[in-house]
Amino acid sequence: MAEQSVEKKGFMSWYFGSNLLLRISIGMIAGAVIGIFLAYTPSLAGSFVAYTKFFGDIFIRLLKMIVVPVIFFSLITGAAGVDPARLGRVGLKTLLFYFILVLVALSIGLTMANFFKPGDGLNLAANAAVQGKTAAAPPLSTIFLNIVPTNPFEALTKGDVLPIIFFALVFGISLSILRDCSEERLSKPADALYHMCAACAETMYMLVGGIMQYAPIGIFVLVSNVFAIQGPKVVGPLIFILGIAYLSFAIHIIVGFGGALVLSGLSFGKFLRGAQEAMITAFVTRSSNATLPVSMRVSEENLGVPRSISSFTLPIGATINMDGTAIYLCLCSMFIGFATGAPLTFDQQVKVMITASLGAVGAAGVPGAGVIMLLMVLESVGIKIETGTAVAAAYAMMIGIDAIMDMGRTCLNVTGDIVAAVVVAKHEKELDASKWSAAEN
Ligand code: ASP
Repeated sequence: MAEQSVEKKGFMSWYFGSNLLLRISIGMIAGAVIGIFLAYTPSLAGSFVAYTKFFGDIFIRLLKMIVVPVIFFSLITGAAGVDPARLGRVGLKTLLFYFILVLVALSIGLTMANFFKPGDGLNLAANAAVQGKTAAAPPLSTIFLNIVPTNPFEALTKGDVLPIIFFALVFGISLSILRDCSEERLSKPADALYHMCAACAETMYMLVGGIMQYAPIGIFVLVSNVFAIQGPKVVGPLIFILGIAYLSFAIHIIVGFGGALVLSGLSFGKFLRGAQEAMITAFVTRSSNATLPVSMRVSEENLGVPRSISSFTLPIGATINMDGTAIYLCLCSMFIGFATGAPLTFDQQVKVMITASLGAVGAAGVPGAGVIMLLMVLESVGIKIETGTAVAAAYAMMIGIDAIMDMGRTCLNVTGDIVAAVVVAKHEKELDASKWSAAEN
């Protein structure tokens, strides 16, 4: 979520004026240190948790408050923003490419999680003050049937994520067609509605920015409580999940992206040299949107993609193509399942694949969007994030390390967009071959 530019002068300017990421890191580290200290004095730990728990619970409630409106408005805006006229051959090829690559990403994420079992043995549920609640997942056939809501308003009020996503997508696509129709009496109000939904989505992201101002305190409390109850044994699993995530990102770059380039007769090494500036920008800014101008430039100048293709593929990619986020969502939901002693069943993992791919589509290309989508993926498999539960504690741990995760996943997201632009241009026979000739590099 965008770090809000808050006025430096005025109320608590020392707090609001300082770097949010730095504050979150301080909150996380201070929470871990104090928590570990408290773990050795159990009587103190008990009263510390009892007195501070409220401040952590508030943070979780604030995040839960925005999940449904964020998904709803950002997906409507995303779907309605695609010009139906442009969904021609180039559009179909691009979307097909995104779809295949996200399937590869999801498979890598789930395979790695099943193989390494991150969080296994952490047993947060057995030790936490309150047990995490999990609901049994319905069988696979009903999962697909239930995606179509019989009453979208009921789905919205109950917070049923998959039906909400489905409804928002079809609503957005219909809105996009209406906006484009020749009858002004329809296109005008449709356009106004689109802008209203876009404004609502922006408002929600503004609100997320506001809530994140409280994140350092919320995370301090949640992390200190986890460490006070669990002791230092949680450090290892956090480093472990980070390692698995970066290994998965690397595998996807080599197998997914490298494979797509080689199959299209292009050199992987030359691609990396040409795209590296955008990859580094994505890593540092943690935002696909912010990296877009750089991605456009390197695609055209270094990799020979014509503007007619890059101007379509890259902006759409920055919004809907997020392989890094998809891998992250798989890994973290599996981590939370293992860490709370309720590993995800096969049916739940299929559901994670569906919601993670849609979550990756729905996540805005801004820092920290993925961790909000994680809430949605968890809810969809029946993992309830109730205040004071082990699940909430595990989720707080994911927020604590989110900046490091976000760097890697954004880099992957942006790289995937550029690979798509290059491959589609190559298949359309519009790629400037001179940029790929031996003499160029
Ligand atoms: N920061 C990511 C991006 O901009 C989205 C995410 O948080 O997963 O691509």
